[in-house]
Amino acid sequence: MSAPVTTGIVDAHTHAFPPAWVADRSGHVARDAWFAELYAGPAAKMIDADALLMAMDAAGVAQAVMCGWPWSDPGHCREHNAYLAEAAAASQGRLAWLGTVAPASPGAAAEAERCLVAGASGIGELNADAQGFDLADPSSLADVGDLLRLAGRPLLLHSSEPVGHRYPGKGTATPGRLAAFLAAHPSLPVVLAHWGGGLPFYELMPEVGELARDVVYDSAASSYLYRPDIFRRVLDIVGPDRVLWASDHPVLGMGRFLRRTRRDGGLREDEVAPVMGENARRVYRLPDLASEAREALVTVRVRE
Ligand SMILES: [Zn+2]
Repeated sequence: MSAPVTTGIVDAHTHAFPPAWVADRSGHVARDAWFAELYAGPAAKMIDADALLMAMDAAGVAQAVMCGWPWSDPGHCREHNAYLAEAAAASQGRLAWLGTVAPASPGAAAEAERCLVAGASGIGELNADAQGFDLADPSSLADVGDLLRLAGRPLLLHSSEPVGHRYPGKGTATPGRLAAFLAAHPSLPVVLAHWGGGLPFYELMPEVGELARDVVYDSAASSYLYRPDIFRRVLDIVGPDRVLWASDHPVLGMGRFLRRTRRDGGLREDEVAPVMGENARRVYRLPDLASEAREALVTVRVRE
């Protein structure tokens, strides 16, 4: 009997760069301070959309949501968005993308609108530290937020822990600031990356639970930060509909992280489908896979 055909797994948070930028990494290190903090060392991986598709094939992942990078320069954002739009359009529905905008510069809302018209599933991963905006200031992202609310498209925010080890790119998007952001933007669909920096724990406080009741958390970079049973703990607090399985590939290799989640994540049988794909399809309104893409995935699985 062949392996079961899994066409449904979605990696809800990955990063891809234009091939020319992968080749000219040092040029970008010189141009952007936040990028330099993470990518100055040769160990941090940087890939294009083709390499992402190869990783998905190897892991048996059907679809992925691509993020660009939280550039502070709107021109970089625009160029990166154009690449992601093109890569997604050529992927037969396997790649979706989020548009990046630089909230501190004028024109962020116009660029966000351009992204949505070009097929983006939402806006993100935005990063307050990298892009110089204040999560606790209600005017931050006001226009972009209005647009997303109208379009019913989510905003993905980088989040981080107020405690624990330091690492490049950690930043200060901690639960207190995230809660202030949520209070200032009611009814905006929000996805908090990296388990919301621990915000799910504070949802045990009724007023925080109320504030965050529609927030969705992704597991990007999880094994870099937490023990695998973080899945079980968070699911017990927020329920099965508000967690998206996400690797942050290539920060974490998606195949390895998938195996680890299956082995040690402690997901119950009825939680597997929502967490591993259905929630991401709903939140990001992902396109259907083209039939050729579905057949190609079946072929990959049967060869295993
Ligand atoms: Zn992040």
